[in-house]
Amino acid sequence: MTHRPISLLPDVLISQIAAGEVVDRPASVVKELLENALDAGATEITIRIDGGGIQRICIQDNGKGIPKDELELAVTRHATSKIQSLNELESVLSLGFRGEALASIASVSQFSLSSYPAGQASAYCISNQSGQWQIEPSPASPGTTVDVQSLYFSTPARRKFLKTEQTEFFNCLDVVKRMALANPSVTWLVYRDGKLQSRFQESSWSARVFSILEPMANGASKPIEVQAADMQLHGAVGLPDAARGKGDMQFFYVNGRFVKDKLIAHAVRSAYEDVLHGDKYPSFVLFLNLPPTEVDVNVHPAKTEVRFRNARAVHQWVRQSIQACLAPSRAVVPVSGVG
Ligand code: ADP
Ligand code: MG
Repeated sequence: MTHRPISLLPDVLISQIAAGEVVDRPASVVKELLENALDAGATEITIRIDGGGIQRICIQDNGKGIPKDELELAVTRHATSKIQSLNELESVLSLGFRGEALASIASVSQFSLSSYPAGQASAYCISNQSGQWQIEPSPASPGTTVDVQSLYFSTPARRKFLKTEQTEFFNCLDVVKRMALANPSVTWLVYRDGKLQSRFQESSWSARVFSILEPMANGASKPIEVQAADMQLHGAVGLPDAARGKGDMQFFYVNGRFVKDKLIAHAVRSAYEDVLHGDKYPSFVLFLNLPPTEVDVNVHPAKTEVRFRNARAVHQWVRQSIQACLAPSRAVVPVSGVG
């Protein structure tokens, strides 16, 4: 066998490999871009998805923007404004911190980003022109617009794993809904192939939940709000009648981040044990907040898994809190009148 010397991979190839983990489908591109918009403090986000996101994903926010002289860093791997030290990683509250989403997305698409931060005279756009980054003035409005076209054109193998445009679009919409549930003070607009598909206007938390998850409205769920030491759990738990044949109404967030966590799933399932029978799935939207040092979000590149420092205590408390909320309220015995 001929000897092949060990060599460092080129940067673009490293990003393309990372893209397999971080942005494996259009919905994960949408997730990463929306996390950036939220981290930038946006209050209005417009999402345009064409051809299931494979053709185009364009996300416009009115957040704080990126100064012209930081545009190239924004699309550079391992460059972030969110953490600077291991210490900060342990107490991170922003949704992003790895500094690899934009570089990964840009390595597998035709990518451009325009930004107009407050205090700058005008907007600038960074785009990739035959392998080189170019920065030019742009007509963008305040905030940031990221335009991702021809996703995976450079990695056809990845493209083959995608589902139909319809499925990819609805996966993208699910991501928007997840984020909209956790951010009711933000207005969200979703366009599909140029037509307005969904609009979630700034609203109260319960109004947002009921507009996105109709089966939980009209008394089909109970609000929950409990506090213990440094943990806080709030949200809505669906009553047994709101249970579904599939687990499509299960939303659990840890410090504002949507997670799919086995420990949490188990805690919730066991809380419903006594009230839900058969193969029904409970519906719930729950937000667990705890000090960032109590939870490790750096477990997986997509950051949908977490690890708790005190897993047993979290499990037990979540289970008991939901159980108590679901327990039929004790009948109030009227006090008989005297005399
Ligand atoms: P991360 O979010 O982990 O820092 P990204 O690659 O997603 O990494 O983004 C790199 C940097 O670009 C961010 O740290 C942030 O400073 C900047 N950035 C990205 N998107 C936006 C946006 N929509 N608004 C403002 N700044 C942004
Ligand atoms: Mg990010």
